[in-house]
Amino acid sequence: MTQPVSVRISVKPHVNGHRSASATAYAMPLEGPLVDTYGRVHDDLRISVTDRCNLRCVYCMPEEGLSFLPRHDLLTFDEIFRVARVARELGVTSLRITGGEPLVRKGLPSLIRGLAELGFDDLAMTTNGTELAPVARNLAAAGLRRVNVSCDSLRPDRFAEIRRRGHLAVVLEAMDAAEAAGLLPLKVNVVLLRGQNDDEIVDFAAFARHTGRIVRFIEFMPLDAQGEWDRSRLVPGHEVFERISAIWPLEPLSDLPGPAPAERFRFSDGQGEIGLISSVTQPFCGTCNRLRLTADGGLRNCLFSDDERTARDILRSGGNDADLALLFREAVWGKFPGHGINEPGFLSPVRSMSMIGG
Ligand code: SAM
Ligand code: SF4
Repeated sequence: MTQPVSVRISVKPHVNGHRSASATAYAMPLEGPLVDTYGRVHDDLRISVTDRCNLRCVYCMPEEGLSFLPRHDLLTFDEIFRVARVARELGVTSLRITGGEPLVRKGLPSLIRGLAELGFDDLAMTTNGTELAPVARNLAAAGLRRVNVSCDSLRPDRFAEIRRRGHLAVVLEAMDAAEAAGLLPLKVNVVLLRGQNDDEIVDFAAFARHTGRIVRFIEFMPLDAQGEWDRSRLVPGHEVFERISAIWPLEPLSDLPGPAPAERFRFSDGQGEIGLISSVTQPFCGTCNRLRLTADGGLRNCLFSDDERTARDILRSGGNDADLALLFREAVWGKFPGHGINEPGFLSPVRSMSMIGG
């Protein structure tokens, strides 16, 4: 492996995040793991297979008027496979398929089958669950290991209010189908919105205890396409912890900070687990190991940064695997120490969550 040597490189200015003026910069290694200038090794890739969705969650998209990528801009399955293969060769061990809603893209099991053959340690998908039940077995047979199903309310009327389309009953059935297909452990993503579903924190904790599903409470992030994010609507992770542990004491599952964004807690009586994803109030940038590929082939090193490099141009202009590998290395090397949400000059990225892939 090439050892980084201590030489100065120029650092381009950027709106979000900042580098310390006195930080020593190193030459970008051309071998070995995907490491950035802060020593963070990147082994987790999220691939968005579409920016389209059949729902319109209030924290993600406007009800009407969002325009989507033209179909010819989307990477084909062959192109996605090729990028994933190069990522695997560069030491990426964990792959997640997301969107938009990944299951609105036709033929997904065939993509999963190809990706599974690349030998990732973890191959998962995040879905809104509306189209999952009928294909859960096919996905598992194709090699998908597990799913995260998003569900922000356990009350049908409120589910409809938040997600604007779709039905809670269908999503709950999808969770059963996923478990029956062996897509385990099943995680349930809940975005909390002050005044809208924060009175369901304890209900979701009870749900985690009764079902054995891992409920992950996610802070509302400034990534909605409408640009209406407001800090006052965010429910901080520490509040979730306090409200649940006042009823059922919780204990951390690990003392060691790892790359996973969720702080994991188990109920002290041994019945169930929850996670807190406090991206805004307790950023986990210091241990971030993630990269993202947008549906049109943009390689991104941070949800909140507009630093995006196109793999599609390489794929469609006869570029080789070495060109793709260099793109990965440059994307990682250009990563800033943090997302800067809590800094005064923070600007939301131009692309929103559904366009980037959450
Ligand atoms: N459509 C799929 C779904 O809803 O699970 C996958 C894509 S969605 C962008 C991935 C995750 O991001 C979901 O759990 C969703 O709830 C979450 N999400 C979307 N917008 C968000 C926001 N502004 N803040 C926090 N989480 C958000
Ligand atoms: Fe669609 Fe997921 Fe965004 Fe909801 S959060 S609108 S389901 S992409």
